[in-house]
Amino acid sequence: MEKLTLLKEAQKTVLDATEPLGCEKVGLLEALGRVLGEDIIAPRDNPPWNNSAMDGFAVRWEDIKKEHEIEKLPALKIIEDVQAGTAAKKTVGPGEAIRIMTGAPVPEGADTVVRVEYTEPSSDSVRIFQPEPKGANIRQRGEDVTQGATIISKGTRLRPAEVGMLAILAKSFVLVHQRPRVAILATGDELADLDERFDETKIVNSNSYGIAAAVHEAGGIPLLLGIAKDEPASFKEKISHGLTCDVLVLSGGISMGDYDFTRAVFTELGADMHFWKLAIRPGQPLAFGKIRGTLAFGLPGNPVSSMVTFEQLVRLVLMKLSGHCHLERPTVRAVFQEKLSKRGDRRHFLRGILRYENGALTVRTTGNQGSGILTSMVKANGLIDVPEEVEQINPGDLVTVQVLSRDF
Ligand code: AMP
Ligand code: MG
Repeated sequence: MEKLTLLKEAQKTVLDATEPLGCEKVGLLEALGRVLGEDIIAPRDNPPWNNSAMDGFAVRWEDIKKEHEIEKLPALKIIEDVQAGTAAKKTVGPGEAIRIMTGAPVPEGADTVVRVEYTEPSSDSVRIFQPEPKGANIRQRGEDVTQGATIISKGTRLRPAEVGMLAILAKSFVLVHQRPRVAILATGDELADLDERFDETKIVNSNSYGIAAAVHEAGGIPLLLGIAKDEPASFKEKISHGLTCDVLVLSGGISMGDYDFTRAVFTELGADMHFWKLAIRPGQPLAFGKIRGTLAFGLPGNPVSSMVTFEQLVRLVLMKLSGHCHLERPTVRAVFQEKLSKRGDRRHFLRGILRYENGALTVRTTGNQGSGILTSMVKANGLIDVPEEVEQINPGDLVTVQVLSRDF
């Protein structure tokens, strides 16, 4: 019997064999979802100058401070109006005020803005009937971003917030990692592609599409190589087309059957193979090696097995190639709702449904866990990760769940 590789070891092996791809410049509007290839250092302060957070009057706090009897305060003289986008020409002196709009720079001499609601302006003067604390309603220069600070770190996946920040920093182009190109090959004489006629001897090639979508979701660029016939020459020809890509993902033909040629063809193409079998379920037969620089995976043919093993290995590799600093899916701890027994040898990934119930996060399986039951993936929003050594889980036990989607 061939040795079963532990998933942890397999993950270390594939990650050790993977280096992040190089970088390219993209326009800011194309940057969403990409992974930053440079640290972003603020070239200037934001806000660039002290500015008013309110419509009101820029004053000297000395003139309006609380200790004064507000009723007895003389009205302040309005010496100028400043709108957003303009700057005051005058300096606020004792007994004076400048009418100011939100966003306008705070004039020289003023240290406080009194909001308009606390004032009673007339044509050339303003009476203040409620004091403001010193410095009120002023956004300080640099309070958001300080010049020279690292605002976004290399390896960050850019979300709308980061894109907005890059605009504040006037970056019209940004350095991001290249997206990994992933060649996808289905194998099997029983497969018909989507638009082909198929009779009762055929099944639809669904793996290529599921895997392509998973590649896309992980930030990669899928390239479909079609379907290889169950003969070595067909495997070889199709695989050769995929070797210009960063990653090659085969599904099927990986077991020990008479028509399983992945192993033979990978070896013939000079693959430097690292493992063939994993101690996980679903997905025990699983090959990984390097063929002329391309990271090559042979995933099991059953649709659920191919998706689950993609999640545990290929996705990690794509995340690393893309330059991410966090490679793994987020996990949560949830209260298991069922009873489960297994042998204490392989790590299991059960398709699970996470839900908040009475304030607690619970998880139950999607039902039939067969590796051909793709509805188990359709219903799942998480993968319940049951370690190798565990033999039993009871209702109420806490389990770890990899979060696939946030709809719970
Ligand atoms: P294999 O490892 O090649 O024997 O594949 C195992 C099973 O997975 C096959 O019997 C098919 O039912 C299924 N299978 C293999 N490839 C695909 C595919 N591309 N799309 C859907 N099902 C597949
Ligand atoms: Mg096959």
